Amino acid sequence: MENNGKVIPIHAEPYGRSRQAGEAQDVLSHLVEDFEDNPASMQYFYDLFRRVYCHGEEVPHRGMLVGTTCIQAPEELIYAFGATPMRLCNGSYHYDQKGADFMPSKSCSLVKATLGMLSAETQIPKVGKPDMIVNPTTCDQKKKSSAMIGGMGYKVYDLEFPNVKESEASRVYWQRSVRQFAAELRTLTGRKLTRKNLKAAMEKTGRAQAAFRTLHNFRRKSPSLLLGKDAFLVTNAYFFDDIERWTLAVEKLNEELAQREKAGFKAVQSKAPRVLFTGSPPIFPNLKLPLLIEEAGGVVVADETCSANRMLYDMTAVDEWLVNDMVDSLADKYLKPCTCPIFTKNEDRKRRLLALMRDFNADGVVYQAFAGCQVYEMEYRSVAEEFNRMGIPMLYVETDYSPDDKGQLSTRIEAFLESLKNRKKQRA
Ligand code: SF4
Ligand code: SF4
Repeated sequence: MENNGKVIPIHAEPYGRSRQAGEAQDVLSHLVEDFEDNPASMQYFYDLFRRVYCHGEEVPHRGMLVGTTCIQAPEELIYAFGATPMRLCNGSYHYDQKGADFMPSKSCSLVKATLGMLSAETQIPKVGKPDMIVNPTTCDQKKKSSAMIGGMGYKVYDLEFPNVKESEASRVYWQRSVRQFAAELRTLTGRKLTRKNLKAAMEKTGRAQAAFRTLHNFRRKSPSLLLGKDAFLVTNAYFFDDIERWTLAVEKLNEELAQREKAGFKAVQSKAPRVLFTGSPPIFPNLKLPLLIEEAGGVVVADETCSANRMLYDMTAVDEWLVNDMVDSLADKYLKPCTCPIFTKNEDRKRRLLALMRDFNADGVVYQAFAGCQVYEMEYRSVAEEFNRMGIPMLYVETDYSPDDKGQLSTRIEAFLESLKNRKKQRA
């Protein structure tokens, strides 16, 4: 640990010179300046991250603020009660080190950074103190974070999440949990859940999801119209940006991609290896692996992670537009398609990966596991066995938020991409 275990006083100096801002600035400069032909409409997102992460601008919100620590917290319910959801999962190495001051060193970087940020006096993104933090009881580290977050003076709500998803009992259990969550939000906000406000909230998230799906579908094109580093930045902005502004910005980006397609534009060379990204989620400013892949001449064309595809792809299917049925449909949307490896069995994840490989014409897979994340580490074996059987090349990378392994990772990624290129040539 740096500074012999002392907490780095980022609040004691002007924010612009803080380590956190410096880290974000480095990644943004690299992401914007070291790549050619960035879409003009990405400027909205570059500016947004600069304002929030590098200049410490406050992120406004409407109504009460409900922090979430995982995608399993149904955001439609939060919007329906007139509150704003804010995903608190953090990707900063600075906060990761801060979290390491009081968490076991073997904890996953995501959890350490999130708790490190919550414990800091100057928090970036500057969202203000959440009126409540909803912590779905998913992996063990998330579960055990609850008491720690509570100890920092936050109001924490444990949203009970089942460990299996196939059984009817787990479905019923989860539906009950989601209804209890709605009751908790009612107590918090003093508002009532109605068919009208829930429908409006579902429409708001539905429009954002539709914009995301269009963007996602543009990434099927070969050669690619957009780099994965930009796609990850867009979905990372969803964590804290105003949902309506975010949707408009993505719709604008989609229009530009449609023009790029018409004009026969190529964001990368035709022979660039197409990579499917899976595993522990890339969260700004930790876009280390996607950036290394694209610097080395590959392109991330799709992902199966909870900071992008898994967060926005699956839509709610409502049978009956009555409040109770709508809440149950929402619960189903958050359980059935979830491919996080926290479940005892997870055949769906392999199925989804295979479908993405096929639909996005990917040449290989990069599997990121954060050191200390047992579920991703353990599930790797069964994914690798299946992929080996099918002859799909996969690179497994165990890493964390530290920049120290960049050199070694870059060599491994270059070798992997080279093998994908050779394979492509042989097949041709
Ligand atoms: S990895 Fe799984 S448990 Fe962790 S934040 Fe993502 S969806 Fe939630
Ligand atoms: S990466 Fe692993 S340990 Fe970290 S939050 Fe996700 S499931 Fe939990």
